[in-house]
Amino acid sequence: MSDGLPAPLGLFGGTFDPVHFGHLRLAEESIGHLGLGGVRWIPAGQPPHRGVPQVTAEQRLEMVLRSTAGNEQFSVDASEVEAAAPSYTVHTLERLRRELGPDRSLVLLVGADAFAGLASWHRWADIFSLAHVAVSHRPGFPVETGSLPLELSSEFNARRLSDAGRLKDAPAGGIVTFAMTQLAISATQIRKLLANGLSARYLLPDSVLDYIQTHSLYRNS
Ligand code: ATP
Repeated sequence: MSDGLPAPLGLFGGTFDPVHFGHLRLAEESIGHLGLGGVRWIPAGQPPHRGVPQVTAEQRLEMVLRSTAGNEQFSVDASEVEAAAPSYTVHTLERLRRELGPDRSLVLLVGADAFAGLASWHRWADIFSLAHVAVSHRPGFPVETGSLPLELSSEFNARRLSDAGRLKDAPAGGIVTFAMTQLAISATQIRKLLANGLSARYLLPDSVLDYIQTHSLYRNS
């Protein structure tokens, strides 16, 4: 870095129910595409609308820990899982700002499907004052169509950075897209396979699958 500032930090939130290779490749490829110094994984606490959880937040956290173990560029933030109240992304970003200071470039990583729903997030417009947003391509969810809600597409057009190299020039406020290896894997598909007694092997790490089998998770979703 020419300016002596640390490289931007990627922040990757998700339910990770369970974590799979789509998540892992998104995090891995974002580092190279966006010039990140690392990725902090932030598993969500148990969302209130999901009903009686079949898999606990602690179990989802454990699977993320297993899948990211050994990668020095990945770290895992357990605070949303440990929080008693539901955590909103904007609150997590405010906490990270307090922790990391006003100048650190932070990049919230989201898949194209999650980005399309951003305008429904709590205080969504405040997110841009706290972090950049990087949108990865995902099969079935084109990024740049007219399908974004109007208020979100206005932000997208106004904040779009043509060059990811500019993420390091400001702590927050830009939007970039990046093309990752297209993997049509979803946690929904994996839960269905497992509930039907079918193999989910090669869609997620063996260490995660071992954990799922040992704890008899996802058998009747
Ligand atoms: P579910 O099927 O339960 O909705 P999911 O597979 O979409 O789960 P999440 O934990 O909801 O996984 O996703 C976390 C983040 O990872 C989101 O930003 C999502 O867009 C992104 N993501 C998940 N799977 C992929 C994939 N295959 N390719 C690109 N991005 C993905």
